[in-house]
Amino acid sequence: MSAELTHYIDGAHVKGGSGRFSDVMNPATGEVSGRTPLATKAELDDAVARAAEAQKGWGATNPQRRARVMMKFAQLINEHMDELAELVSKEHGKTLPDGRGDVQRGLEVVEVCMGAPHMLKGEYTNDGGPGIDLYSMRQPLGVVAGITPFNFPAMIPLWKMAPALVAGNAMILKPSERCPSTSLRLAELLKEAGLPDGVLQVVNGDKEVVDAILDNETVQAVGFVGSTPIAQYIYGRAANNGKRAQCFGGAKNHMIVMPDADMDKAADALVGAGFGAAGERCMAISVAVPVGEETAEALRERLVPRIEKLRVGPYTSEDEVDYGPVITAAAKERIEKLIGSGVDAGADLVVDGRGFKLQGYEDGFFVGPSYFDHVTPEMEIYKEEIFGPVLSQVRAGSYEEALKITMDNPYGNGCAIFTADGDTARDFAHRVNVGMVGINFPIPVPLSYHTFGGWKKSAFGDLNQYGPDAFRFYTKTKTVTSRWFSGIKEGGEFNFKAMD
Ligand code: NAD
Repeated sequence: MSAELTHYIDGAHVKGGSGRFSDVMNPATGEVSGRTPLATKAELDDAVARAAEAQKGWGATNPQRRARVMMKFAQLINEHMDELAELVSKEHGKTLPDGRGDVQRGLEVVEVCMGAPHMLKGEYTNDGGPGIDLYSMRQPLGVVAGITPFNFPAMIPLWKMAPALVAGNAMILKPSERCPSTSLRLAELLKEAGLPDGVLQVVNGDKEVVDAILDNETVQAVGFVGSTPIAQYIYGRAANNGKRAQCFGGAKNHMIVMPDADMDKAADALVGAGFGAAGERCMAISVAVPVGEETAEALRERLVPRIEKLRVGPYTSEDEVDYGPVITAAAKERIEKLIGSGVDAGADLVVDGRGFKLQGYEDGFFVGPSYFDHVTPEMEIYKEEIFGPVLSQVRAGSYEEALKITMDNPYGNGCAIFTADGDTARDFAHRVNVGMVGINFPIPVPLSYHTFGGWKKSAFGDLNQYGPDAFRFYTKTKTVTSRWFSGIKEGGEFNFKAMD
């Protein structure tokens, strides 16, 4: 029997009223584990109206008190770490250590939000002119929305909700309909941490509810994370309706390997970054770009045994596993079809992960690891974000060619270089047109007090996620210029006596 999931409105679980549902799967077994209710426009509008009421008091609460809710929330997340990780793994399929990592990287943003009063302070200039002072304040936007993808069921909702809420906003969170349970549990923990009812509303749904969010006049800002076509669509519609929008999209992350790199370390890094979480990470490295034929051969020689050794299995496995299933049967089918297209296009499929079956889990959505060599930028496997356990190797003749390949790619989320040469590393970091860069570091997700965001087709809108940018995104600045005539002497000179 699959469980009927709920929305979370005004601090309580609420059954969906539309009669429409989307299945939540256990990707390891292929069984339906739950049904996500898909909200209607009317349900969304009602949740927004209630959030707007709740926001009035919350927005007027002093920032330190709001930060205290974040402190308690962080404590509760820590206490419930294993339970949250299991919820993530059950619906997503990732291994338990990876599930814990998902929660941990979200928790780190909550921890930064404990210091929000400092980030929300305004600026002050005294004596900007005779008797003139200026000050600015950061005010909450009101009701904002977060729309999140399936691949980080804890981390990305936390990246959205923590800065938005601590800045004094109310939030409508629309998690992925494939993995909604972690968001629902986080909403319960926030209530326990002291968040007033209605300030966080979890409204589940699909395109219908997303469009309702984009068209609702009360919603002031939309923070989206997902695939590029949807990011572009949401950005356009939100901006057209006068909303602030930041929409993060897909990726095709390259890693350049220079001839002077430590080849074993580069190969280890590529295997972890390419196949971890079954390649379902927006910061996964999906393209290796070795410079020179010798480097390409040396890398290939090291990659093959490492890739063939990868252990694939369910999160419940007693044996150690490196990665789990992909999210749906359709995702598995699409990935295997793309691998076939690579073979048809003439790429060299060195390790073939198609047709992978796991005893006892024959109906799970497992895909074995695949590794292509001699991929070229015209091939579909290069152009498409595969979002699966597939690594492509594109050989480059020189550093300049490797840099050009990386820069010509339409995506610009992350990239990396492995080298022993500081000049090359510095040149790469300065010239590459990608938002997050790793030097001898394969997945350069910045720490929670920096910011996260891609360039080119990987992000639409302005400002990054978390860190100082998040506080800017979720507040509007008001600047006051004031003049007090007692401070001005006739003739415009400053009257110091008036200060006595
Ligand atoms: P997705 O675009 O299918 O879905 C994301 C969200 O949009 C979900 O909440 C979904 O319900 C909603 N949605 C889907 N179709 C819609 C439509 N037609 N209209 C309106 N809303 C719609 O993405 P996904 O498959 O859940 O996640 C994987 C994608 O997310 C990958 O492309 C990955 O690279 C990307 N991603 C990007 C980042 C980043 O920070 N750049 C981080 C994580 C994931």
